[in-house]
Amino acid sequence: MNYRSSWMTEELDVFRDQFRKFLGKDLAPHAEAWRHQKLVDRSAWRALGEMGALLPSVPQIYGGLGATFAYDAAVIEDIESVVPEATAGVSVHSGIVAHYILNYGSEEQKLRWLPKMATGEFIGAIAMTEPGTGSDLQAVRTTARKQGNSYVINGQKTFITSGQTADLIIVVARTGGPGAKGLSLIVLEADGNEGFRRGRNLDKIGLHASDTSELFFQNTAFKLAERKTEAMIARVFIDWCVERLIAGELDTVTASMAKWWCSQKQVETADECLQLHGGYGYMQEYPISRMFVDARIQKIYGGTNEIMKLVIAQSL
Ligand SMILES: Cc1cc2nc3c(=O)[nH]c(=O)nc-3n(C[C@H](O)[C@H](O)[C@H](O)COP(=O)(O)OP(=O)(O)OC[C@H]3O[C@@H](n4cnc5c(N)ncnc54)[C@H](O)[C@@H]3O)c2cc1C
Repeated sequence: MNYRSSWMTEELDVFRDQFRKFLGKDLAPHAEAWRHQKLVDRSAWRALGEMGALLPSVPQIYGGLGATFAYDAAVIEDIESVVPEATAGVSVHSGIVAHYILNYGSEEQKLRWLPKMATGEFIGAIAMTEPGTGSDLQAVRTTARKQGNSYVINGQKTFITSGQTADLIIVVARTGGPGAKGLSLIVLEADGNEGFRRGRNLDKIGLHASDTSELFFQNTAFKLAERKTEAMIARVFIDWCVERLIAGELDTVTASMAKWWCSQKQVETADECLQLHGGYGYMQEYPISRMFVDARIQKIYGGTNEIMKLVIAQSL
């Protein structure tokens, strides 16, 4: 068939000629290995970056070629025909993630992220889908809460292309009320982000070289910081009670305060820490499961916590 797309140019012909040769010689020989390992090597991303094949339609000041969408279309068409193993990841990276940043990012964000995406140093992903929330995106349950200059994200995503390898993830999260208006796009740099965890590389029936993953965002560091603070407060209060007891000065009301508050915090802390472990926390072999069960009785024996509060109330 003698058909030529209307958007093709002679300049693009020259680029594609080189690009196809590169794909066939440098990337295609690795495709089988990528299918087995269920992801595309990072070195391939770098090589695509060197060829100018990542972010071609992004302006040059942000590391792109400053070309038209014709280059985006040509690159994806050639990758798909020579090494289809790389199509999904590159489409999301160049076609979606880069353009969200280009269109909605601040100047500082564009300069920080786009050049690294153009060289393949950073791989981009977009995390919209959640277990139970696919087509109906307005129902997204992942939340992002502002804390100082950043956001704290809590929730879970699934089916995320490049989820295993992505350095930069645009997360659709709820920052406001219900519906689409309450949703925001939060950019997460994966490296060093303690509350972020990658789940399994999911087993698909096709697109074997494209990693597709579950992602978990848990405000773990903050939760543990809160619990550590409470543990220190409890320690200081208990030490003070011990001092008073030794001095023969501990009264019933203060002792009741110590008993109900510390046992309540023990149960809450064990419950939250078990939750952070997910399903593993429910397995006997994990110490947190025993701490959780053993903690529960503390609110009951030695005088129930309701009785402790009655004692305190009588002193008011
Ligand atoms: C290989 C792969 C890669 C992916 N990559 C990404 C990614 O990078 N980032 C990301 O965020 N997500 C990604 N996804 C998720 C993808 O976007 C969702 O699977 C898709 O949006 C469908 O959502 P769902 O799976 O929850 O199905 P559902 O929304 O539960 O749909 C199930 C069925 O119900 C139908 N349906 C649902 N609602 C309606 C309605 N109102 N009217 C009529 N029919 C309806 C659907 O058409 C479908 O047939 C990926 C998925 C796969 C398989």
